Amino acid sequence: MRCLTAGLSRLAGATSTYLLYLDESGTHGGSSCLIIAGLAVHERDAWFLQQRLTDVVRRALPAGADPSAFELHAAEIKSPLHGSGPPSAWAQVSVDSRLHMMRDAYRTLRTYRPVDGRFPLALFGAVVEGRPQGREGRAYEEVLHKFDEMLTRRSRELGERQTGFVIHDKRTIERDVQRATQSWREMASRMGVLTHLADVPVFADSKASRLLQAADFTSWALWRFYGLTQPDADWITELWPLFDRANEVMHGLIHASPRFREGCPCPPCASRR
Ligand SMILES: [Zn+2]
Repeated sequence: MRCLTAGLSRLAGATSTYLLYLDESGTHGGSSCLIIAGLAVHERDAWFLQQRLTDVVRRALPAGADPSAFELHAAEIKSPLHGSGPPSAWAQVSVDSRLHMMRDAYRTLRTYRPVDGRFPLALFGAVVEGRPQGREGRAYEEVLHKFDEMLTRRSRELGERQTGFVIHDKRTIERDVQRATQSWREMASRMGVLTHLADVPVFADSKASRLLQAADFTSWALWRFYGLTQPDADWITELWPLFDRANEVMHGLIHASPRFREGCPCPPCASRR
């Protein structure tokens, strides 16, 4: 991954690259909102953060167990026997160890110190309520534009060009998303042109990347807060400080909801008033 990103930086004539790992929640029928979210990691931190997260998994497992067989997939860790497929590998780990491990993973994200302090982790997300039709495209557009805005702002602040590269958990509609991103790059959309993305998003298997798994933890924590009838703030609380922000506004998270006008008290809406 480090070779890939270093190569991208040179190709783009950039000083450095942020990698944005994305996942989604709320795609099932009847869901009250669609969420696309994840984390932007500077290229120099990708390997180190993957190692930290693998250490979190290792600490939760019996001695000798292979961490690579255990994916950081929040819903599966919480309920390893749920679903129609074969039982999850996590079923062999006690519920106390699993919950402790999840807290350890969220804390690891919150406390991670980047190799270069000028390039901290930054979270991004869009929570789109309303009719299912069009929610996914809207959520992508919001997230990619907010990521692009951060790169533009940081390029200005640091005096050196920053580029971004987007990696999404693999799924069936990837070609639609790639087409949409290409068109967003080429023409002014409702929110402006994406100027700092090195290419269209690529899709990878989350089993192979702890950072895609961290994106799963991010979108799942948002789902627990925004998607349930009784909001559960237990998991997202660790992550609020990590969403991209400038001038006291939480730019990294969009809550597209009719409740904004009614004075939605959630942290991103409150920061915009
Ligand atoms: Zn809100």
